[in-house]
Amino acid sequence: MQGMDGVRGFDNARASQYEGCLVGLALGDALGAPVEFLDIEQILTEYGPEGICGLEPWREFRAGHFTDDTQMSLATARGCIDAYLSLRHGESWRPAQAVYHRYLSWLRSQDVPYMNRAPGATCLWSLRTGRMGTVEAPLNSRKGCGGVMRVAPAGLAFPPDQAFHHAVEFAAITHGHPSGYLPAGVLASLIALVLDGRTIEDGVDMAASMLRRWPGHEETLAGIETARDLAAGAVPPCVAIPRLGGGWVGEEALAISLYCVLGAGNDWETAVLAAVNHSGDSDSTGCITGALLGAFHGVEALPQSWIEQLESASGIRAVAQDLFRVVREGMEPLADYDVP
Ligand SMILES: [Mg+2]
Repeated sequence: MQGMDGVRGFDNARASQYEGCLVGLALGDALGAPVEFLDIEQILTEYGPEGICGLEPWREFRAGHFTDDTQMSLATARGCIDAYLSLRHGESWRPAQAVYHRYLSWLRSQDVPYMNRAPGATCLWSLRTGRMGTVEAPLNSRKGCGGVMRVAPAGLAFPPDQAFHHAVEFAAITHGHPSGYLPAGVLASLIALVLDGRTIEDGVDMAASMLRRWPGHEETLAGIETARDLAAGAVPPCVAIPRLGGGWVGEEALAISLYCVLGAGNDWETAVLAAVNHSGDSDSTGCITGALLGAFHGVEALPQSWIEQLESASGIRAVAQDLFRVVREGMEPLADYDVP
């Protein structure tokens, strides 16, 4: 937060939660990236009896490089900034369209081999149609976790009720099944509630109440309830996570992440390591878990040595600062970030 301490009324604790969310999600993603396509036996063989415990290289990338989950989350964040700036400049309030345009920029970036970080097929396919999916006019009936894994910034950009609604819109751009877009609403509203000072436990209850108003919520709600029961019963991750699924679909990715958060007593590192050491979609569950607890604790709670290894860490922090400046403080963005 260098250079900002002198701004009157600037809420440094809140700004730290914005940075914690985006840095936390990128770290969770980067931790899970090397093991996304490994089952738990392969992870233990490759990384030892505790599994993967730190940032490791993957494919041609050095340790600390993130995947499509972070790229698309940053696109969501920048789309939200665009939406607020457009409104301020007298244009209509259309957050989903602003985010859609950032997703199209992301799609174009995927032609560059270095930028291609194992993107999800549904995201690519949907964006290539040239049409923006909505809840009312879905492009498909897919429910992959590509919707929920990219919407954490919506929880930073809007109050809880609106965060739910807009995150659903953002996920429905590419994913047309309720279990593809409703977990996104739950995650974003939960992050917004945490920013409002709620505990994670209370936030989960309140987000679940919002969820119940939507048609097709049953799978997502069942996942949340099972996750809560497994965490309350202190069922260990090696037993609990396989019961919740692989995380490749939206409701499972949310459920695994919530179980990891609640089961770890909200400890960021314990939760995120649990969220990446399983046979399923490790980078996405790491991303969701890291975002939620990063927003809860603030950036100071994240391991400094890992932040130092994280790709584009300063750029990610700058996006978070701009989201905070524009959304919360009504200030102009600094826009001096360089993120892939
Ligand atoms: Mg990924």
